[in-house]
Amino acid sequence: MARYTGPVCKLCRREGTKLFLKGDRCTSGKCALDRRSTAPGQHGAANKKQREYGMQLREKQKTKRYYGILEKQFKNYFVEADRREGMTGENLLKLIERRLDNVVYRMGMAESRTEARQLVLHEHFTLNGKKVNIPSIIVGLGDVVAVKENFRDSVKCKELAEGLQSKNAPKWLDVDKTALSAKVVALPARDDIDFEINEQLIVEFYSK
Ligand code: SF4
Repeated sequence: MARYTGPVCKLCRREGTKLFLKGDRCTSGKCALDRRSTAPGQHGAANKKQREYGMQLREKQKTKRYYGILEKQFKNYFVEADRREGMTGENLLKLIERRLDNVVYRMGMAESRTEARQLVLHEHFTLNGKKVNIPSIIVGLGDVVAVKENFRDSVKCKELAEGLQSKNAPKWLDVDKTALSAKVVALPARDDIDFEINEQLIVEFYSK
């Protein structure tokens, strides 16, 4: 399935929750969901009762959209999470949290995951000193993500670096705000994911 290119605020209205897809705008008074919280479409305002399947589907869609992952790739993460030891739902969230684009966003060097993805695609970051352009790379313990040398002097990078100073990264990332780099000092735990997700519903969705 192709990447969604329509208005992203619609996705938040569809899921009935803030997915934080537009950076600073999401926490300002301009957030579309704060102004209009009904689902998009003619019957969006109708008070529909969700059935079990509907709830499972919505939880999967919400999580996928929050992280900006396509359907097939998300399913692949689920298969991998199921293969690993432990709780499948938790494994899934901990796995996608380690995506390179998410790390760039979490370290504070992007306003949104969409922007983080773009920055990685344009090779503005390095992983352990080597250039990378694959947003879906899963980082491991000890890995270091850093801004690439030739991007540092750009206006965009300076803007992002300024914003970084007031941001707090999760404890599994050790961010050097001067060097514009982040080291993975622990693997993310379930508690580190502060977005409200009921991963059990996703497991049930794929287990049918
Ligand atoms: Fe969602 Fe952000 Fe748009 Fe609000 S501003 S609806 S949080 S994308």
